[in-house]
Amino acid sequence: MLETSSLGDEIYSLIRELYPICRSITGEGFRETLARIQKEIPLDVHEVPSGTQVFDWTVPKEWNIRDAYVKNSRGERIIDFKRHNLHVVNYSVPVHRKMSLAELRTHLHTLPNQPDWIPYRTSYYKESWGFCLSHNQLQAMREDEYEVCIDSALENGSLTYGQCYLRGQSSAEVLISCHACHPSLCNDNLSSVAMATFLAKYLGQAQLRYSYRFLFIPGTIGAITWLSQNEDHLDAIQHGLVLTCVGDRGHITYKKSRRGDADIDRAMAHVLKHSGRRYDIENFSPYGYDERQYCSPGFNLPVGCFMRTPHRKFLEYHSSADNLELMDPASLAHSLMTCLSAFYVLENNRWYCNQNPKCEPQLGRRGLYHAMGGDRGQKLQEAAMLWVLNQSDGEHTLLDIAERAGLAFDTVHDAASLLLRHGLLKEVPAQR
Ligand code: ZN
Repeated sequence: MLETSSLGDEIYSLIRELYPICRSITGEGFRETLARIQKEIPLDVHEVPSGTQVFDWTVPKEWNIRDAYVKNSRGERIIDFKRHNLHVVNYSVPVHRKMSLAELRTHLHTLPNQPDWIPYRTSYYKESWGFCLSHNQLQAMREDEYEVCIDSALENGSLTYGQCYLRGQSSAEVLISCHACHPSLCNDNLSSVAMATFLAKYLGQAQLRYSYRFLFIPGTIGAITWLSQNEDHLDAIQHGLVLTCVGDRGHITYKKSRRGDADIDRAMAHVLKHSGRRYDIENFSPYGYDERQYCSPGFNLPVGCFMRTPHRKFLEYHSSADNLELMDPASLAHSLMTCLSAFYVLENNRWYCNQNPKCEPQLGRRGLYHAMGGDRGQKLQEAAMLWVLNQSDGEHTLLDIAERAGLAFDTVHDAASLLLRHGLLKEVPAQR
C-alpha cells in the first residue's frame, strides 16, 4: 500500500523542481523536463522533425530562448525573462531594437482584472513577439526610449515527446496522456506531469493485466503527432485518461469520453460514487485538453479527462498565480489514488459463470455463510456473494454486478475471489 502523506510531498517536490524550466511545445525546456522524468521512470524520447505532416497539421519549427528583456533609458531591466519565464510570449520570434512606449505597448499583455498577475500567452502558429507583465507594472511605465530584446531562435529542429510503456500480461493498453508544454505553471500542467510520473513509477512495480502507455507530449500538436505516427497501433487502446489540473484544493471532476459509457467512464464514476467525497462528472465536450484529439470521430478512443478544478473554473488559470502555492500535496496524492482505484476496477473486472446455477449453492456447508449475527462487513460480503452468484451468467461483469447491487467494486471482487476459490465460479471470456 502506498504511504499517501509522503506520496503527496514527493509529487509536490517534482513539481517544484520542474517549475523554473521554460518549456514550450518544442525545444530544450521540453527535453530538460523529460530528462528529469527519466530519472524516475523508463522513458523513450522521440524527436519528430519540423515540417512533418501530421494529419491536417505540420510539426512547427523548434523554439528556444536564452534571454529577453525590456530596458529603460537608464539601462534597467524593467521586464526580465530571467525573473519569470511568463514575461515572454511563448514562441516569440527574435527582436532587438529601441522603441517608444506607444509602439512597445502594442506588444504588451496584462490582466487588468488581476493587476498583480502576469498572464501566459503563446503565439505558436503566427510569427510574432510580445511581453506579458502585471497590469500594475504597465501602469508604472513612463514615456521613454525602451530597448527591447528577445534572444530566441525559431528554426528547423524537432518536436519532442516522451513515452513510458509498462508491459502487462495482455497487449491491451491503458493510455495515460498529459501535456508537458507549459512553462512556469503548476496546476496546468506540472501537477499532471508529476502525478503521471509517480503513477508510472508505482504501476511499474505492480503485476499488471493491462499494459500501460504514458505519454508526455506538447498539448494539441503532440497528441496529433502521436496519433498520426501510431495510427495502426490504436486498436490496442482499451481505456485511457488525459490528466490535467490535478493538484489544486478543489474536488475531482471527471469528463467522460465521447462514447460516454466506456469502461473507463463507468469505472471512474463507480470509484467516485463510493469515495465518500464530493465530485463532479461532466459529459464529453469538444474543448478542453487532448481528449479532443483522442476522441475525434476518426478515432473515438475510450479516453476521459481526469481533473480537479477544470481550467475555466479557477481564476489563476494561465497566469503567474497558477504557482506552487496553488498546489496541495494531499490533493495530488488523492488524485493519484483515485486513478489507481479506477485502474484496479479495470484490472479486476471480469466475466464469470456460476458453476452451480440451479438454485443457490449451500454456502453454509462450505463455511461461506455465517447465519449467526456477524458484523456489517460480513453481511456485505454475504450480500455480495449472493449477487455475484445470481448475476454470473457470463453476461455481467463484476462492475455490472457492483452497480446493480449498489456495492463497492472491492466488496464484489472479494466475494468473487472467495467463490472462485471454492469452485463456485469460473472465469469466461469477455462478452463485449
Ligand atoms: Zn494550458
